[in-house]
Amino acid sequence: MQSVSRNELLAKDPVLPRVAAGEEVVWINPKRRPSCEVLPSLPLGIADILDAEARLRRFAPFIRLRFPETESNGGLIESPLTSIPAMQAALEARHGIAIPETLLLKQDSHLAIAGSVKARGGIYEVLKHTEELALQHGLITLSDDYSRLAAPEARALFSRFTVQVGSTGNLGLSIGIASAAVGYRVIVHMSADARAWKKALLRRHGVTVLEYEADYGEAVKEGRARSDADPNSYFIDDENSKDLFLGYAVAALRLKNQLAERQIIVDEIHPLIVTIPCGVGGAPGGITFGLKQVFGDDVHCFFAEPTQAPCMLAGMATGLHSAVCVQDLGLSGVTEADGLAVARPSGFVGSIMEPLLSGEVTVRDEQLYRWMRLLEGSEGLFLEPSACTAFCGVTDLWQSEPGKAYLKQTGLQDCLAQAAHIAWATGGALVPEIEREKYRVAYL
Ligand SMILES: *Cc1c(COP(=O)(O)O)cnc(C)c1O
Repeated sequence: MQSVSRNELLAKDPVLPRVAAGEEVVWINPKRRPSCEVLPSLPLGIADILDAEARLRRFAPFIRLRFPETESNGGLIESPLTSIPAMQAALEARHGIAIPETLLLKQDSHLAIAGSVKARGGIYEVLKHTEELALQHGLITLSDDYSRLAAPEARALFSRFTVQVGSTGNLGLSIGIASAAVGYRVIVHMSADARAWKKALLRRHGVTVLEYEADYGEAVKEGRARSDADPNSYFIDDENSKDLFLGYAVAALRLKNQLAERQIIVDEIHPLIVTIPCGVGGAPGGITFGLKQVFGDDVHCFFAEPTQAPCMLAGMATGLHSAVCVQDLGLSGVTEADGLAVARPSGFVGSIMEPLLSGEVTVRDEQLYRWMRLLEGSEGLFLEPSACTAFCGVTDLWQSEPGKAYLKQTGLQDCLAQAAHIAWATGGALVPEIEREKYRVAYL
């Protein structure tokens, strides 16, 4: 950002000087509007989500064949929604607070294949691309059983094509593993933040991993340039992909059923509060978009980011979206939350979130490890540090002045005891035991 000085940037919203100072903040989005006004004017709608869901169903027989761990779910990649009363009590005791809502954990940390939320968007986009190629080459029709796509002649076709992606780690894992399973050649461009074990795991799947000293933005740029130079290569663009976004949005339709199964009502007096860790914005943005389509104003969505890499907050609070990066505010962009180590937000996602998102909460790295240990100690569940940012929406939101004002303004304060609060756990299942051991003793 050459045109606007740092001081001019910081003047755009009262929260920004504190964000720039690396403080933990709660920010309420002043541009949020009633969803009945907003939804009809968006470039995507419920029909697009239903289309994505139908595509995932068509692929279920193929997924089931390629990934036997999805067998019990009929080839659908979906995660459990569980209540975590022991964690809720542990958080209350640790922070000296009362949490009136019922705390739930959406365990995308335990999604099949990729062990992270990226198993939604990433795999969906690989499958969508696969369907297009397969239709073009006459391998299937829309009404066929897609398990045909696992046949040798289909694989031979896919092996002539390359899929490439830039990643801080988890997107690369998801797209790398899924693409290799379809039969593509795969190149993953990894930023400096990516953990070594993620690169090693990908290489074991036959994926080519290129490593960069630079951050995520650079890895994406390089990857895109290389892919554009090859007519048989498809680049998955985390910053702007509509398909990725819709793959994430399908989560909302599935969640609606899971809530119903648990007899959790969502309506005006039984609100749903959701906190989702945010990196470039695709995953939390897609999920929020889906949830707003399904639950309208009865759902309140908050993003959670690390204090040194709050890129979506920077984009939203300045209104500049992808025209601003966290370094413009004077922040490092460096965080232990590797899945969220993104300096510049998606402009595509930011503009869709502008009228829908309730707000943002940020948290310092060392806190993530404490919550990670607290969850493992209380519930026996392991999450990676990035995913633990979700808990700052539980502990900090309603303790803060902006949060309290939001409760009042929305009328939420009168029904908080009937509310469900979902902490969206975005990753962890694939973290090797040796890495978990390191996390368990970090910042003690
Ligand atoms: C990628 C990721 C996120 C956030 O997704 P974005 O699309 O980058 O915003 C959150 N948590 C984990 C563990 C991730 O890997």
